[in-house]
This record gives sequence, structure tokens and C-alpha cells, in this order.
Amino acid sequence: MTARLFVTLAVVLGVTALGELIEPQGWRLYTDAAQLVVGAAAASICLAAARGRSGLQRRWRVLMGLGLAAWALIRLWWLVQDVMLPDRPVTMLSDLGFFVLPACFLLALLHAPYTRPRPVPTSARRDQIALLIDSVLIAGSLLALIWSVVPRDWFHWSGQPTGLIVAAAAYAVADLVLVTMVGLLLLIRPDSRAGRRPLALGGLALLAFGVSDTLRLIHLADGPLAPWQSAGHLLGPALLALAAVSRPSAGRPAPVDEGEREWLHLLLPYVPVTATGMMIAINSGAGKPLSPFEAYLGWLGLGLVVARQMFTIVDNTVLLERVSEGQRRLHHQAYHDPLTGLANRALFRERLTGALGAKPVAVLFADLDDFKLINDSFGHAMGDRVLRAIAERLQRCVSPDDLVARLGGDEFAVLLDHTPAGAEDTGRRILAALREPFVIDGRTLGVGASIGLVASDREEPLTADALLRRADAAMYSSKRRGKGAMARYAGANDGGANADLPHLLAQALESGRPAASGFEVFYQPIVRFTDGATVAVEALARWTSPVAGPVHPDVFVSVAERTGLVAAIDDFVLNQACVDAAALAIVYGRPIDMHVNVSAARLSQTGLEESVAGALARTGLPASRLVLEITETRRIQDLPSAATVVERLRSYGIRIALDDFGSGFNALAQLHSLPVDIVKLDATLTDVDVAPERAGALCRSVLTICTDLGIVVVAEGIETPARAHALAELGCPVGQGYLFGQPAPLHRQQPPMIPSQHIPPSSAAHLAT
Ligand code: C2E
Ligand code: MG
Ligand code: MG
Repeated sequence: MTARLFVTLAVVLGVTALGELIEPQGWRLYTDAAQLVVGAAAASICLAAARGRSGLQRRWRVLMGLGLAAWALIRLWWLVQDVMLPDRPVTMLSDLGFFVLPACFLLALLHAPYTRPRPVPTSARRDQIALLIDSVLIAGSLLALIWSVVPRDWFHWSGQPTGLIVAAAAYAVADLVLVTMVGLLLLIRPDSRAGRRPLALGGLALLAFGVSDTLRLIHLADGPLAPWQSAGHLLGPALLALAAVSRPSAGRPAPVDEGEREWLHLLLPYVPVTATGMMIAINSGAGKPLSPFEAYLGWLGLGLVVARQMFTIVDNTVLLERVSEGQRRLHHQAYHDPLTGLANRALFRERLTGALGAKPVAVLFADLDDFKLINDSFGHAMGDRVLRAIAERLQRCVSPDDLVARLGGDEFAVLLDHTPAGAEDTGRRILAALREPFVIDGRTLGVGASIGLVASDREEPLTADALLRRADAAMYSSKRRGKGAMARYAGANDGGANADLPHLLAQALESGRPAASGFEVFYQPIVRFTDGATVAVEALARWTSPVAGPVHPDVFVSVAERTGLVAAIDDFVLNQACVDAAALAIVYGRPIDMHVNVSAARLSQTGLEESVAGALARTGLPASRLVLEITETRRIQDLPSAATVVERLRSYGIRIALDDFGSGFNALAQLHSLPVDIVKLDATLTDVDVAPERAGALCRSVLTICTDLGIVVVAEGIETPARAHALAELGCPVGQGYLFGQPAPLHRQQPPMIPSQHIPPSSAAHLAT
């Protein structure tokens, strides 16, 4: 492109220099002939370049080609006149045809807003008009400034008819308006793929035209222009031809500060207007009267400023509407569940809080029964459709004034703040509605739910969270009594089936001394099949609630996970296990590994690494003796970041185990993503003695995969010698189960009494002890 530009400049310079060598009488004929040739060539280049393009890229090239063709035609007419009437006037009526080129240029530039939209476009049409007003405003102000500073005797107009002076002035003014427009586009419009190059070249062409047109205006009475004076009329068409053949600049344009450009867009037109106003004020102050032309420009400027303001107001109104629409959308997103469109937890809490102080309310808390099965069997897309269908049914069961929300996963809640007395009926309607099978994609699916019901109590004012916890407790007790039912909250101190476990658990753990609130740690041995040696123990939490009595670990762990309390249990067990490791080493006669359970949810929370490092540092247990079992009761959402946490823990020398492998979510995906050392094969997969073919094949496959990955396999649920034997035969090195010992407190730990002859010595794999 640069080479082309140089060649063009050299040719124009050469033709101009050649003209200067000719006698002045021959200048007119020479320059008219040269301009005809250049104009015709440029027109055909533009039209040819348009042919290979489409859309806007084609349109502006066609417009330029037509404008240049009209321009060349007038040159031809001039040439004929030059030959037939050697003394013709400098300007003629036919010159009006020259306006075709600026008109085409204007149309081409007005299309530019489509390719170069404003940073915050509101309407393409308004954008075009605003661009035109801005250009005329700036050009008019510049004109007024120039007019007030340039001495009148510069203009050689004597004897020229006013019409011709006006026509000649109009070319220069049109050039000024168009150059301003190009300047504005280059300054305030973000770059587009079309690139800035053609626009910049077009601007240069306009400048070239403008210089020669201005010289012509100044020397109107001096006869034909010298070749150097009219060189702009050669350079202009040549630069336009270059613009037409230029290719869009490659690569993305540099990022622009859009806010800054929008300011520029708003302020730029007023800078020259202000300057002109000041100049007029200074002149008037100095006693210089305004010329009619200046007064006319002043009024024009005023009218345009008013029009521009109107456009800005319309633009601002449109933008304000968009902002408030955006805010409405954001508000909806923040308070609604994107999958079902129901209210989310935040909106539910907000409305519950508002209603609690003002009127009686009831809350129904529904948790779907075994929804995991649907996800696991039919995939998540199907799970999502079922959730949407459930949301629709729930809404049909309540009155329009009551609020249905999806609190997360498969948990829904209904706030009955208008019809609290009918809560039980509504709950029954929901249970009945959900009992109806769902037919989705030709499949018939059954989804039940367990519902907890709680009503606000005037005697005991409660927060929204406390009421939700009670609803959750009631739901949980309904689950324990058999799924698909509804239970009403029966009070915090009810130690029976309806005990408010979330409340009791929170009380026990928030005291900071779980041991004093009934928490204990039991240990269960993990044994090597070849010789029956205990190579490790698993630390397991036990809780005997002072109110509800002994609570099964499956129950309190899952309640703790739901209520965000599981970290406190994990940390208590971790600390106690690290303390007890020394005593266990004495029981077993040598140091053994300590397995500690960690809820998978903690991999996505902070604090796990600090807890583990703190426990090791406090107790002096070597990191190599600690195994963290990742217990997956909730899906690990972000496997890559969980893998990073696992990797950091391993860097201490700690080993990581995948617990209950084969029973949770996406076992193979986890094995693929998480860098684990040990896999604990779930008891449901280890019944190789009961179903030797299926279970055997599964265990063999898992063992092969794990051996290939350098992962040790621990078989869970070893209850009989036959199962231990069968797994050892398959090549599994270690196992855990009632056969080797029940979980028991530290003081009841003793080495297992399993005769090693039961186990074949063929399973060669060994664990470090
Ligand atoms: P888990 O980590 O898979 O623990 C093994 C469970 O299997 C224990 O149940 C244990 O008593 C049981 N078990 C051991 N041998 C046999 C057997 O031969 N047959 C059968 N049927 N079961 C056997 P437990 O103690 O009831 O714990 C249940 C679950 O609670 C644990 O499963 C673990 O997921 C969770 N858990 C226990 N303590 C903690 C803890 O401190 N933190 C976390 N996050 N979870 C824990
Ligand atoms: Mg475990
Ligand atoms: Mg397990």
C-alpha cells in the first residue's frame, strides 16, 4: 500500500511538474486533459473494485465510482469548451455537475455509521443525522472563525457574478464539511473490520480537493489555476482510487476506551462553537459589527446546537430505558433460578423475612426422593427437564399469592404467607401431584418428595434461617419415616423421630467442644490380605446427642453437609485421629496409616489445607501416615479446581483416597481428574462371593485400571472370610470390614485375630507399613 501511495504521489508530481513547463496559455487545456484522464481512471478503478465486493463495502465504492465518473464527464465537457471557446469563463453553470461527487461522498460517509457504530449505538438513523449535524456544526464554526480572521482582499472576485462566487465557495465548504465528517468518524467511532485505511485515504483526497477548490475560490478573477494550484484535482481522484483498492487492515484494532470516545462524541462539536462564540463576542466588544454572513452562520450554529441537543436527549432517553431494562433483567437473574424460573433462595429468604414480623406464615420444604437416580440413569439434561416439570406442578398446587422457590439442587420450598392455614392441604396436594408419573421424551418417570412443614409461632419469634432449618428438620424426619410423606415440625427438644437434628447439631458443634456434646472418634482396621496385618485404621465420627440419643453417622453427616457444618466434624475427627495415632502405634506394635474422612464439599471451600497442616504440626504425626478419604455425598462440581487442592495436599506427603468408589457420582470422571493414591472400592461392588461373575468382572476391571494408574485398592465391606478370600484372589491387596473388626473407640482397639492361612499368599501387592 505504501509503495502504491508513493507511485501515485510521484506520478501526480511528475504530471504537475510537466504542466509547469508549459506556457500559461496552455495550462487550462493541459490540466483539464490530465484531470479527465485521472478522473476517468479513478472512476473505473472504484467501479472495478466494487465488483468483487458486497454489502456496504460494495456500496461506497460504487458511490465513489459514480461520483468520479460524473466529475470526469464535466472535465470532458470543459475540454470540449477549452477547444471550442478558448476564452470561456473560469466557472460555468455546468460546474454544478461537480456537486455529484461530494453528494456521493456524503452518502458513502453516512453509510459508515453502520460499519463504524458509535460505542453506545442507539439508532442507526439518529446516528447518521447526528453525524451530519456535528459535521456541519464544526465546519460552520470553523468557517465563521476563518471568515473573521482572513483579510477580505485575499479574495480576487472583482467582476465575477455572485452566483458563480457562491458556487465556487460551495465546493470549498462541501469539502470542509466532508473532511470534518471523516475526521469525526476517525476520532470518535471505534475501529471496525473495514479498517481505518480507506477512510483516512478518503480524508486525504478531500483535503487535496479542498486545497485546489479554495485556491480556485480565492483566484476566481485571475484566470485558470497554475498546474501546481490545481494538483489537488489530480491527487484527489488518485487517492480515492487507492482507497477503493485498499484492503481492510488485518488483525483486531487496538482496544479503545469507549467511555472516553463517548465523551469526545458529546463534547467535540461544542469546542469550535464555543471558540466561534468567543471570537464573535471579542469582535463585538471591540466595536466590530457582525457581517451578514457571520450573523447567518451564528443563527445556523444556534439552530444546529438546538437540534443536536434534541438528538442527545432522545439518545439519553433510549439509553436510560436500556439501563433500566438491564437493571430489571439483573434483578430478575439475582432473584430467580435460571433453570426453572422460580424464585431462588435469596428471594425466598427476603420475602420470608418480610412476612415473618408482619403476619403468620407457613413454609413447606420439599426434597425430592432419590433424584440422584434420575440424573445417574438418564443424564443431567433429563434431570433438568424433570426439575422444570416439577416446578410447573408445584406452582399449580399453590395459590398465585404464595411463593414457590427452588432453594438448590432438588430442594424446593413454598412460602404460604397468604394462606398459612391451608399449608397441610397444599402439602398433600403437592405430594399427590408429584406422585403422578412424568412423561418426558416418551419415558415415564416417577419422582417422589418428602415434605417438611413448619408454621411461624407468635410466642417464639424466629429468623427466616431458623424457620428454614426447622422446615428442613421436619422434612428430614419425614424422610426417615419413609419417603414420599409429609411431617410437621415437632419442636427443638423432641428427641424422637422428629428431632430437630440441624438445630441440635449446630448447638453441639457451635460450642467449639464437640467431645463435650457427644462426639467421639471410632477406629476400624484396614487389613492386608496376605498376612492379616493391620496396615491402617479409618477414623469414623460417632455422635450421641444429649437430646436425641445416638444418631447414625450417615444421618448426621448428611445433615451437617446440608447445613454447612461438616467441616467442624471433619476437623474434630482429624485432630483426634492425629492425637490418637501415637497410642494406636503402641496397640499395633508399629506405626500404621491413619485414614480420615473429608467431605468432598470441602475441596471447593477454603480452610482444608490449613486444618490439615495445623493438625499435623500440633501432633507431630508424619504427613506420610495420613490418608484423606474424599467422601462424596454431593457431586464435585468443579473437578479441575478440586484436583488443584488434592495436588497441594499431596505436596505435603499426605495420600488421598477416593471413598466408596463406584457408589457415588461419576466415579470414572473423578478417577480421571483427581490425582489420588488410593481407591476404596464400595461394599456394593465387593460381593464377589455372592455374584462371582458380575462382581468379579467389575472388581477385576477396577483393579486393572488402578494398577495401571499406580493406585492402591482397598476393598470395603469385607464381612466374611469367603469375600476376603475372593478379593485377595482377584489381586486386591487390602480390605476393611466387620470381618477384621467393627469401628471401636481407642480403648477397645486390639490387633485382629484373622488366621492368615485363610488368605492365599498369591496377592502380591503390599502396602507400606
Ligand atoms: P465410610 O467412610 O465409607 O466409612 C465406612 C463405613 O462402612 C462406616 O460406616 C463403617 O462402619 C461401615 N462398615 C465398615 N465395615 C463394614 C462392613 O463390613 N459391612 C458394612 N455393611 N459396613 C461396614 P459409618 O461409621 O456408619 O460411617 C458412615 C459414613 O459416614 C462413612 O462412610 C463416611 O462417609 C461418613 N463419615 C463417618 N465419619 C465421618 C467424618 O468424620 N467426616 C465425614 N465427612 N464423613 C464421615
Ligand atoms: Mg471413609
Ligand atoms: Mg467408604
